Amino acid sequence: MAKTVENALQVNILKISKAARSTPSGCMKIEWVCGGSVVVGIVMLADHTVTILVGGSVYQAPISRREFRKDRYLAHIQCLACGRKCFSLFVDGAHLKCRRCAGLIYECQRGHAPERAMIKAQKILARLGGLAGYEVPARPVGMWRRTYLRHLHQLVTAREAAFGRLSAGHSNRD
Ligand SMILES: [Zn+2]
Repeated sequence: MAKTVENALQVNILKISKAARSTPSGCMKIEWVCGGSVVVGIVMLADHTVTILVGGSVYQAPISRREFRKDRYLAHIQCLACGRKCFSLFVDGAHLKCRRCAGLIYECQRGHAPERAMIKAQKILARLGGLAGYEVPARPVGMWRRTYLRHLHQLVTAREAAFGRLSAGHSNRD
């Protein structure tokens, strides 16, 4: 099952910077509620680097600041995997990574996945001239066989995602 943002150790540079204003040393405690238990780490904020100590590991990410108004700077932290500058990075294996590189989804996306898959299945059916239901439409006149097969394949995948999840509850495939 895909990991969610809500259950990952998230490092948000805006929150850290805000907390650091009342902590001149730049060294702070950080707490995450993860899977029902509390995980505690240490954050060290320097000019160009944020360092996180958690679970015996050290994680670092470079900070960049962009001037968004005269003399006002907005901090970003950089994902070392893809180079994107983000507000939030996540502890993933040995590195801090952005949401995409860490392969995280939002909890709400997980809930809507079957619905979205069903909408997708209906769209494919409509393209093939069929109606929402269990009948698989015949190949429309003028459509290449290969295109038709591709649509059917997508249809099966979408239906699996929609109905497999609904009937089986949780999938163990990922
Ligand atoms: Zn990334």
